[in-house]
Amino acid sequence: MTDYPQLNLLIGGEKLDGAGRDTQDVLDPSSGEVIAALPMASKEDLDNALDNAQAGFKSWRNTSADEREGILRKGAALIRERAKDIGAMLTREQGKPIQEAMGEMTYCAMLLEFYAGECKRTYGRTLVRPAGQRVEVRHEPIGAVAGFSAWNFPALNVMRKIGGPLAAGCSIIVKPSEETPAAGIAIVQCLLDAGVPGDACQVVFGVPDEVSRHLLGSSIIRKVTFTGSTAVGKHLAKLAAEDMKRATMELGGHGPVLIFNDADVDKALKVMAAAKYRNAGQVCVSPTRFLVEEDVFERFRDGFVDHAKGVKVGNGFDKDTQMGPMASGRGPDGIQAKIADATAKGAKLLAGGERIGNQGFFHQPTVLSEVPLDAEIMNEEPFGPVAMINPVTGYDAMIEEANRLPYGLAAYAWTQDAKRRMQLADDIEAGMVALNAATVSAADAPFGGVKWSGYGLEDGAEGVTACMVTKTVHEAI
Ligand code: NAD
Repeated sequence: MTDYPQLNLLIGGEKLDGAGRDTQDVLDPSSGEVIAALPMASKEDLDNALDNAQAGFKSWRNTSADEREGILRKGAALIRERAKDIGAMLTREQGKPIQEAMGEMTYCAMLLEFYAGECKRTYGRTLVRPAGQRVEVRHEPIGAVAGFSAWNFPALNVMRKIGGPLAAGCSIIVKPSEETPAAGIAIVQCLLDAGVPGDACQVVFGVPDEVSRHLLGSSIIRKVTFTGSTAVGKHLAKLAAEDMKRATMELGGHGPVLIFNDADVDKALKVMAAAKYRNAGQVCVSPTRFLVEEDVFERFRDGFVDHAKGVKVGNGFDKDTQMGPMASGRGPDGIQAKIADATAKGAKLLAGGERIGNQGFFHQPTVLSEVPLDAEIMNEEPFGPVAMINPVTGYDAMIEEANRLPYGLAAYAWTQDAKRRMQLADDIEAGMVALNAATVSAADAPFGGVKWSGYGLEDGAEGVTACMVTKTVHEAI
């Protein structure tokens, strides 16, 4: 166990505590106990943050690319140095096993290192023109950005919100999730300690809808970036549209996994079952709908059930824990309702299906099979430790089911046929496709979805250009 830190806002470089402010309890998901009081920003705090963001943009955009790169690299070094402490806060507030939290810390540092390099790579171009004329295309930082992130990756989601804007030369006000605030505050503190000015990167908390309306209601904010549900994403996209603000929306998914007859079934099982129960299934790219060709269906299903029954669930700080509690009480409640709906409609419950204990927010790793397409869980993102495994016959039927939903974030397929893999990459409607693999993110690769899974990209060079506007300068000499 670890000490959980005192929580604060970070406005204009100042740590502001709960004195004179409303506070909200933060819970330990493994016990349900209150572990801290989170200060909520007042309207004055938010106005103060906006004024700072405007001033911060003016100075940060004018730092040289070299200087920005150096500061971001130092921030990444501090994240690596403090990873053990921040990782422990993350496990305490979110529940995931400590090894997963440490992996998240490493990814934060790698992403920031990549973005540091991008500071110098936001190239413009000069167009070919006759003598006496010049046309220059240049990319400039968009302005102050407001970022709202979710509780499933308390550190990485915040890094994704702040890394691109800072590399581009923007200022950023980020609101991490009120349910998992400490890791995000600590990540931003690393950047401030590395030399990012206190008005260029700030942290606020509050009632989410009030904070986002307040910040998006200001003309100082030029872009919004959000990670969370499609419902809230649509709401924020409408608010952004009212003032023509740029938006990046990293929303939900419902990842199909296509297992063909010729797949390496043992490897697919091992890799995809581990991916399913990572972070208790609370991952936007989590594999959810397993579509398995009939010849290998029983083997795949039975192997998956064995894996699910063997997953060690427990406190994230216990060494042999493979899956922690869900992050909040909404998790097990939501999963229970969806499992009840699916079984009432005829789905077979083959593993799990129940909460664990009466303390904290634990839920069993669960497998449903032969789940009817009208079951809620086949249409709404489960966001929990539940796999649905259905038999499907033939390529066309696999693609039809994979593309049936309005979501299009991550999709997975397993086949040894190289020609079919190329066809799959063409036919699947998703922002990211993994073939014979479960990994869909890397610091230098764009991350984002299509359809209801959102628009705009994070990570990769695209994560920086998403925070820039293009200006064309026509000149007669
Ligand atoms: P949610 O969308 O209500 O909340 C997600 C985050 O957005 C939270 O941290 C919340 O504080 C913040 N938020 C909520 N309303 C906001 C607003 N009006 N303005 C600004 N920020 C706001 O989702 P939830 O209830 O926490 O989870 C429900 C579903 O959301 C999940 O089942 C899943 O489908 C989806 N989700 C997706 C991701 C992702 O990584 N894409 C992450 C978390 C949740």
